[in-house]
Amino acid sequence: MNRTPTLAVWKFASCDGCQLTLLDCEDELLPLADRVRIAHFTEASSATVAGPYDLSLVEGSITTPDDLERIHRIREQSSTLVTIGACATAGGIQALRNLSGVEQYAAVVYAEPGYIDSLDASTPISAHVPVDFELRGCPIDKGQLIEVITAYLAGREPDVPAHSVCFECKQRGTPCVMVTQGTPCLGPVTHAGCGALCPSLGRGCYGCFGPMNTPNTDALSRQLAASGMPDGTRRRLYRTFNAAADAFARAAERRP
Ligand code: SF4
Ligand code: SF4
Repeated sequence: MNRTPTLAVWKFASCDGCQLTLLDCEDELLPLADRVRIAHFTEASSATVAGPYDLSLVEGSITTPDDLERIHRIREQSSTLVTIGACATAGGIQALRNLSGVEQYAAVVYAEPGYIDSLDASTPISAHVPVDFELRGCPIDKGQLIEVITAYLAGREPDVPAHSVCFECKQRGTPCVMVTQGTPCLGPVTHAGCGALCPSLGRGCYGCFGPMNTPNTDALSRQLAASGMPDGTRRRLYRTFNAAADAFARAAERRP
């Protein structure tokens, strides 16, 4: 590619935390700015350049009829489309509403629910358009984000390992909180990326990065049950950030 490649950042239903991770790159953003033209990123600038775009980063889940139309337009304009964060890759925290009727929530939250035009479910971007790469996390990890952007600029596949958080615990020499303290931990089934932050502070993993590749949730559920965790607590543990991710959704339903 001889011309400067263009990068666009798009927002759907989300808290903006993953876009803030890009702004938080600070030291890395300046060298990146020399190699890429940021054509659309309303979190950072109101200036916008019309597509097509070489690389689109998409944050947020699909929750309204307008979202549905917009994601198809963005896909048509993007050579490569990468979803960033639990909202975009698994429906996010807002997918908790998929477990019940959206009308019930709208009636409780809004004074005039009639103005709300919402789909029945919060769904990941990949449920609607082809996605080239999914970057997990709530929020995403800065190092993994830079790896994904530089990989696509260099024309190669991103090197983002899909192993579990346990691997990161071992890497940093953190004693296992489940073994040493009996603290419940989703680390054995959760995608790496946070650097085992919570276990390093003596807390169990909350599963922010969603399921790792081939997670053995049955084994973990048996362990959680054996340690005395009630069914309802185990269900909530799997459902916090990635309730609609297939492996966690199935694990929440299944009794060990
Ligand atoms: S994945 Fe988490 S941090 Fe990122 S936009 Fe969604 S709620 Fe915010
Ligand atoms: S603390 Fe959690 S993530 Fe770390 S090794 Fe133990 S089970 Fe795995």
